[in-house]
Amino acid sequence: MDGEIVEQEVEMLEYKLFIDGKWVDGSKGKKIPAINPATEEVFAEIAKAEVEDVDKAVKAAKAALPKWAEMKPEKRAEILLKACSLIRKKAESLAKLEVMDSGATIRKALGDINFGVYNFNYFIKKASELFIKEIEPIEALFMNFSYVRREPVGVCAGIIPWNFPFLMAIWKAGPALSMGNTVVLKPAPQTCVTALELAKIFEECELLPGVFNVITGDAEIGEPLILHPDVNKVAFTGSTETGKRVMELCAKGLKRVTLELGGKNPFIVLEDANLDIAVDGALFANFYHAGQVCTSGSRVLVHESIFEEFKERLLKRVKGIKIGDPLDLSTGMGPLISKEHREKVEFYIKKGVEEGAELLTGGKRPDGFNKGFFLEPTIFSNVTNNMTIARDEIFGPVMCLMKFKTDDEAIEIANDTRYGLAASVWSENLSRAAIIARAIKAGTVWINEHHILSERAPFGGFKESGIGRELGESGLLIYAEEKHISTSLVNQRWRRMWYDILF
Ligand code: NAD
Repeated sequence: MDGEIVEQEVEMLEYKLFIDGKWVDGSKGKKIPAINPATEEVFAEIAKAEVEDVDKAVKAAKAALPKWAEMKPEKRAEILLKACSLIRKKAESLAKLEVMDSGATIRKALGDINFGVYNFNYFIKKASELFIKEIEPIEALFMNFSYVRREPVGVCAGIIPWNFPFLMAIWKAGPALSMGNTVVLKPAPQTCVTALELAKIFEECELLPGVFNVITGDAEIGEPLILHPDVNKVAFTGSTETGKRVMELCAKGLKRVTLELGGKNPFIVLEDANLDIAVDGALFANFYHAGQVCTSGSRVLVHESIFEEFKERLLKRVKGIKIGDPLDLSTGMGPLISKEHREKVEFYIKKGVEEGAELLTGGKRPDGFNKGFFLEPTIFSNVTNNMTIARDEIFGPVMCLMKFKTDDEAIEIANDTRYGLAASVWSENLSRAAIIARAIKAGTVWINEHHILSERAPFGGFKESGIGRELGESGLLIYAEEKHISTSLVNQRWRRMWYDILF
């Protein structure tokens, strides 16, 4: 532990809801406190939305839809690109707010804002290509001319978690708006600040009122939002349990739904891996953002012949992770999001010990800090894949080390999970790694890499890790309905394909 966090006098920030282009209080005047996870101080007060506000936001989004959807794609792109450059300009202040709100390190927060800008730029540019779909004329035999139009789905509800607040806001708003939809965004109650800052940016670039709205709260407004009859699509990122509930609610109105859910991702180290890289890779895969990442490589499967060496190296290198003030550029790991979440992670650590895993390091709150929801990087050895810590998504800084003998066994353990979000394979033999990558049931598989995404490649889960894909072309097409328009080019009755049934 590297010393106390210096508490600074900061003025209390205030945020309202953003509905129909206006900043408004919640109908009952209630507030949500924004708590800095590193200091436990309340640094902002946020208006809390009620069910009435959900209705206002959805109605505003519905009213704004025709104009936004019919706007020339070039004009839409111009407005949204202006938002991108404003985000870039404000990156530093946005990143600081994200640190205070979510406990992310400043390096992660800056990385997220910059990656968000790349992603948003891609969505805008790619969307303008996707409005035109070229097809072969179908039914040529009957002289029909066909074309396919891509149209916006309508009002889209975006519901997002607390671990990547700004990036997730971009992942929901960016593709939906670029494809001509309007949006009601509901950030997680723990982290509303940067979603509301995004609304300020849209306001500055004169986005039409109602095109983008932000309401705050938890399930009590999330459920009415999903059930609102004027919401056409729900894009959800969060836990698998909540995702199942979201899907159930969507079924009632047959709403289009995409789900980006949890993971319990394997990190497979073959005996021919470059250990200098693989050991640090495992630390990054597990302790980046204190393990609160859906793609965390929390099941580390190591070939038995290198297991001891890998473990020793890991234990040496883990000491180099500096826990501390997330605003300090040299900090490697900040706090967890909340008191309750830290308690949940501690429950799993206790369970790991009870079920017979060997606690190699960590497992407790670091010495020297009496404030903040910090927890040490924790490594378990002797883990078997049936233990609770190997099955449940802990969503904290807890690594499980396991051994395997053959590639087939590694594949079997990797796939023995209800999740299928991501995986990584570490080997100097790329052909062998590629064979394993192919056999793993997950939406993203890295070879000698972990956590790295690209806006041009689809991201999402197999099995209980989700339905649908974000990013890439697929991540834009989930925001479009395809319509086939077929025009007959003949005016002689006898040439019509339906002529014979009338006689
Ligand atoms: P969560 O499921 O508790 O909450 C996510 C969001 O859903 C929040 O905005 C919350 O207010 C809202 N919500 C909760 N109950 C709801 C309900 N009944 N109806 C409507 N909305 C409801 O998840 P969390 O704890 O905020 O985030 C952590 C989870 O998110 C982890 O499981 C993680 O793996 C997952 N996640 C997945 C991805 C991905 O892309 N696959 C990315 C980030 C996080």
